[in-house]
Amino acid sequence: MIKKISNQFLSSYLFVFLLTTMVTTLAVVLLSFASGLIEGRLVKERYPARAIIKEDYTQIDASAVVKNGGGVQVVNKDYQVVYSQGLDTIGKSQLSAEEFTAFLMESSDKPYHYDIVYQPQGEYWLIVTFPTSIRLSFSVVHNPAAVPDDMAMASKVIAAISLIYLTILALLASGYSRFMAAQITEPLHQLSEGTRLLRAGDYSARVDLKLKNEFANLQETFNDMAARIEQEMTLRKKSENDRRRLILDISHDLKNPLASIQGYTELCMKKKDLSEQERREYLQAIYQNSHRANLLLADLFELSQMDSPQFLLKPVETEVCEYLRQICGALIPPLEQAGFQYEFDIPEKNILVRLDPPRFSRIFQNLTDNAVRYNRPGTVISVSLREENTDVVICFADDGCGIPNHLVEDIFKPFVRVDDARNSKTGGSGLGLAIAKKIARAHQGDLTLDIKYNNGSAFMIRIPKI
Ligand code: ADP
Repeated sequence: MIKKISNQFLSSYLFVFLLTTMVTTLAVVLLSFASGLIEGRLVKERYPARAIIKEDYTQIDASAVVKNGGGVQVVNKDYQVVYSQGLDTIGKSQLSAEEFTAFLMESSDKPYHYDIVYQPQGEYWLIVTFPTSIRLSFSVVHNPAAVPDDMAMASKVIAAISLIYLTILALLASGYSRFMAAQITEPLHQLSEGTRLLRAGDYSARVDLKLKNEFANLQETFNDMAARIEQEMTLRKKSENDRRRLILDISHDLKNPLASIQGYTELCMKKKDLSEQERREYLQAIYQNSHRANLLLADLFELSQMDSPQFLLKPVETEVCEYLRQICGALIPPLEQAGFQYEFDIPEKNILVRLDPPRFSRIFQNLTDNAVRYNRPGTVISVSLREENTDVVICFADDGCGIPNHLVEDIFKPFVRVDDARNSKTGGSGLGLAIAKKIARAHQGDLTLDIKYNNGSAFMIRIPKI
């Protein structure tokens, strides 16, 4: 059974109240005990009127009382102050009967302690006065000889006051416990509502409690968690879409060459009067299409290999300028053969990087293949190297037809091409840039496209220096 937080608060408040009452009672007992203890040790208790009184008041020795800051007065039966030493709070030498009665009645309210004794033989009152340093007086008085009616009335009043007190207390405790419980249950309710929405698939659910206590931390954690789940879900959706698109693209790209191969093979098998010229043409077409399909599958295999956890580079410390010079040297024959021009700008520096040379050179191979494949003869290919903070940046550029702005990011995705018709003729797999980017990233670097370069395309290969 669920226990309501407001009820738990109520019982704890009542418990605290009970405890407070018990502690207060204990405090009262201690106070009355302490009052007795203190009272007994005050100066006034050391010099009571009884101790110094004499039948003949002129014999009284008031010196000790006066020395301790007190005073001694003697009032005779005609209310005349006939003797006065030290502190005098009467202030008159002759009192009326009313004045003396008032003095006696009000003595307990004044900040003085009066000890008054009547001497029957000398017929006088001896008054010993001390200024009050502290007055502790607490006691509940009950006299069994009191009038029964008074007792009954007093009991009723006490019972009524107790009842009113307890009712007010119960009402306050109940209201306050509800209020305090709401401080907890309301944020909890909002958080559980947010969790419910998340569970129902609404990943945009967030909680705004407008609080600055511990719940604010919980809210922050919840919102962070929701944001992460939302991000994760978007990524998952995106990668699911990418996967679907990839499968579609692969099947589309494989369908054409395989259909051609099938068509030409059928022709070879069924056509009876096949001329030598036709046979060569058909076989040529079969070869080209199977080559294309093979290329696509090989690139696809390489790309998926790089995604597998078993894919490991074998990086070695390499002097990158020297490495790039060798790469450029190897580029010269195919570029010249294709009628392309070239410019290389590689500094004479000793810059070290860690790379897997055969894998890394695949980047240049793919970029060169593309540059030659998609641009006209006469295009200038330039390769340069510069240092940028902790990185080395190699720029592989051409001043050819370029790649449109909107494809700057997407061109590195598998099967993304500028012009599908053009590409089916030129025969690429559509995976060259995707593979090259993955290789660069596996080296803790990156491959990006800078379209602003000379109207053509400029690919930036970034790799960290050692
Ligand atoms: P593909 O096998 O189609 O060449 P890539 O991933 O290597 O696949 O290249 C993707 C597309 O980018 C190419 O189809 C082409 O349209 C475009 N492209 C790549 N490099 C260049 C370049 N140097 N000049 C113009 N277009 C290019």
